[in-house]
Amino acid sequence: MATLTDRLDHLLGKKAAESLAEQFDIHTVEDLLRHYPMRYATQGQPLTEKAPLDGAHITIIGEVQKADLVRMKNGGWMLKAAVDTGEQRVDITFFNGQKVKHVVAVGKRAMFSGTVKYWRDRWSLSHPDYLILPQSGDATKVKTVSGGGALREMARTAKDSGSGVDMSVFEREFTPIYPASSKVQTWDILRCVRQLLDQLDPVPDPLPAEIRNEHGLVGLDEALRVVHFPDAMADVERAHDRLRFDEALALQLALAQRRYDTSLRNAPRCAPRADGIAAAFDERLPFELTAGQRAVAAEVAADIARPHPMSRLLQGEVGSGKTIVALRAMLQVVDAGLQCALLAPTEVLAAQHYRSLRTMLGPLAMAGELGSAETATKVVLLTGSMSTSAKKSALLDVVTGEAGIVIGTHALIQDNVEFFDLGMVVVDEQHRFGVEQRDALRSKAKAGTSPHLLVMTATPIPRTIAMMTLGDLETSTLRELPRGRSPIKTNVVAAREKPTWVDRAWERIAEEVAAGRQAYVVCSRIGDDDGSAKGEVPNTTSVLEMFDKLRTGPLAHVRVGLLHGRLPGDDKDATMQAFSAGEIDVLVCTTVVEVGVDVPNATVMVIVDADRFGISQLHQLRGRIGRGGNAGLCILISETSPAGGAYARLQAVAGTNDGFELSKLDLEQRREGDVLGVAQAGAQSTLRLLKLLDHGEVVEAAQRFAREIVSADPALTEHPGLATMVGSALDRDRVEFLGKT
Ligand code: ADP
Ligand code: MG
Repeated sequence: MATLTDRLDHLLGKKAAESLAEQFDIHTVEDLLRHYPMRYATQGQPLTEKAPLDGAHITIIGEVQKADLVRMKNGGWMLKAAVDTGEQRVDITFFNGQKVKHVVAVGKRAMFSGTVKYWRDRWSLSHPDYLILPQSGDATKVKTVSGGGALREMARTAKDSGSGVDMSVFEREFTPIYPASSKVQTWDILRCVRQLLDQLDPVPDPLPAEIRNEHGLVGLDEALRVVHFPDAMADVERAHDRLRFDEALALQLALAQRRYDTSLRNAPRCAPRADGIAAAFDERLPFELTAGQRAVAAEVAADIARPHPMSRLLQGEVGSGKTIVALRAMLQVVDAGLQCALLAPTEVLAAQHYRSLRTMLGPLAMAGELGSAETATKVVLLTGSMSTSAKKSALLDVVTGEAGIVIGTHALIQDNVEFFDLGMVVVDEQHRFGVEQRDALRSKAKAGTSPHLLVMTATPIPRTIAMMTLGDLETSTLRELPRGRSPIKTNVVAAREKPTWVDRAWERIAEEVAAGRQAYVVCSRIGDDDGSAKGEVPNTTSVLEMFDKLRTGPLAHVRVGLLHGRLPGDDKDATMQAFSAGEIDVLVCTTVVEVGVDVPNATVMVIVDADRFGISQLHQLRGRIGRGGNAGLCILISETSPAGGAYARLQAVAGTNDGFELSKLDLEQRREGDVLGVAQAGAQSTLRLLKLLDHGEVVEAAQRFAREIVSADPALTEHPGLATMVGSALDRDRVEFLGKT
C-alpha cells in the first residue's frame, strides 16, 4: 500500500517514474495526484475547442463515420477517416491505411489522441494513437485489444489479473484528460493515477472535521480520488472546492504564523507628542489633509505607539498623497528619539524625496544649520552614486543618530549601514519588498527590537491578491485624491493611420510650454546598445532617437532634456533637478519617471510606443501629470493597428482614471502565474486550482481560519497535518513565494 509521500519508482516502475519526473517534475504520489485533470471527456462529446491550436495535443472520443482508403503518390494507402464526436466531425488520417482499416472501421467507437495539423482552414489529426472502445452494452472485459501507439500499450497494461483487459475506465462517463506532452500522454498519466489510487491507503485529513463541516468541504481522501475519477461534474466541483481551500490555507497558515511571530516582537513605542516636530510640521502644512489621509495617519499613529512592530501596507492612487502620511509618521518616530529610513526603488526617486521632504519640512529639517527650528531634525540622503566623502559624512550622521530621517535606495538596509536607533522603515513604491528584506531590517534596530514598517504602493493590488501575497501585513487604502486635482484626459493616437496627429502631439507640447508649463515624452527603450546589440531590429523609437528628433525638429525652440537609467547618477539628478526647477521644458525620458516623480507644473505626457507598456505602468506614468491643478493631457502613441488587442488595451487606459479598475483589468489579461509574478514570484507551483481573482471568498475563509487556529496553536503542534501542509507549501522553490513580496 502507498502513502502520499512515497516515491513513484517503487509503485509505477522506474521507466514511468522517470518520464513523469522529467516531463512534469512529478516525483511522489502526492505530486502525481495533484496533477489534476484539466478537463473531463464525456462519452461522445468534444474533448476540445471547436478550433484547437495548430500543434496542440488533443484527445477525442467518437464514432467512426467514414473510413476510406486513398492511394498515395508513393504507392502506399492512406486511410482517411472522419469521427463524429457528437458536436463536430473531426478528420483523421493514417498513413498505414492497409493495416488500420480493419480496426478503425465505420461504426466503431474509439478514442484518438494526436497532434492538430491545419491545412488551409481545416484541421485534422494525423496518425493519432487510438483505442477502440467497447460499444455500449458490451462486456467491460474484452479479450483482445485494438489500438495503436501509446493507447494500445495502455490498454494492455490495464490488464486485470490476466483474464482480459479491464476497459471499465473507458466505460466511465467522465474520462480525465490531463495536462500532457507528446512523451507522456494523457493515457500514460491516467494509467499511472489509476494504478496509484488502487494502492493508496486512505489519505489522512489535515483539516479537523468541524472545519470541514463548517465550510461544507469533502474529505481530502475523497477529493483526491474523485478529482481523477468523478461520477458527475458536481463531484468535481466539490473536490475542487476542497482542494482549492487547501491551497489557500497552506499559504494563509504560513502568513498567519509570520504575523503572529511579528506580533510577539518588541518595537519602540513612539507615542505622539503635542510639542514635538510632528506637531510643528502640522502647523506648517500648506494644505488640509484629505479625510482619507487623516484616517490612515491616525491608524499609523496608533500602530507605532504600540510596543509591537507595525506591518502596514499603504496603497493609494498615484498622487493621493501617501508621502505626507508617511512623513507625519516618521516625525512621530523622531519625536520619540528614534530614526527613520525611507527606501525608494531608484536613485532618482530617492534624490527627489530628499529634496521634497526638505522643502516640506523647511527649518524643521535643518538641525545643525543656521536658522533651524528648535525641534528640527536632520534629513540625509545616502545613495550608491554619491562621492565617498559625501557618503562618509552621511554614514556618520546615521550612526551617531544625528540624522532623524535617512533616505536612500535598498542599499540602505542591505549594505553595512549602521543606525544609532532605527525606529521605522518606510518603503516607497515597492511591491517586491520581501520577507528576507524585512528580516534584514530587523537586524538594523536595537537588539531585541524590530522597527515599524510601512510599505507604500501606487499599484493597487486587488484585495485577494494582497491577502495571498502580503497576508501578514495590515492594509490601508487612500482612495480619494486631494482636492483641486484636475482629472487627466488621455487620448490614443494610431501613428500609422493618423500620422498628422503625432505632429499635433508635439504642437500641443509646444503650446503648453508657451503657456509656461512642462511636458514629458516617454520612450520604451534607451537605444544605444540595448536590443540592437543582440541582433534584433527594434521597431520602436528609442529615447535617444526621440531626443534628437524633437530638439532638432518640432521642439527646437524649447529647452529639451534627456533622462534615462544609464546616465551617471549625478547627471540624472542634475537633469531631474533642472526639470523640477523649470529650467527644462520638455523631459524626454524612459520609465525612470514612472514612480513618485513629482513636478506639479508638468501638464502633458506623450508616451511613445505606448503598446510596449503594461496597463498599470501606463497609469503610473500618466500619474506624473495633472498634479498642480492644471488639466493634464496624456497622449498614447502607438503603431499598432486600431483593430488589435493592444490598441484596445490602450483605449481601456484612456477610458478610466481608476487605478483599481485598471489593475484588475491588467491582471485579468494575464495568466494566473503572471498575476502572481506581479506581486510575487514562484507561487505558480503552489496554486493549481485557486484563481485569485475568482475565488476571493475562499481566500478570505482560509485566512480567517488560519488566523484563528494560529492564535490558539501558533506552532501548530496540535495540528500536525496542518503543519505538514505549511511545510509542503513552503517547500522547494516555494520558499520564494513568501520571499518576494
Ligand atoms: P503619491 O501618493 O503618488 O506618492 P504624493 O505624496 O507624491 O503622492 O503627493 C502628490 C502631491 O500632492 C504632492 O505634491 C503633495 O504635496 C500633494 N498633496 C498631498 N496631500 C495633499 C492635500 N491633502 N492637499 C493638497 N495637496 C496634497
Ligand atoms: Mg509617492
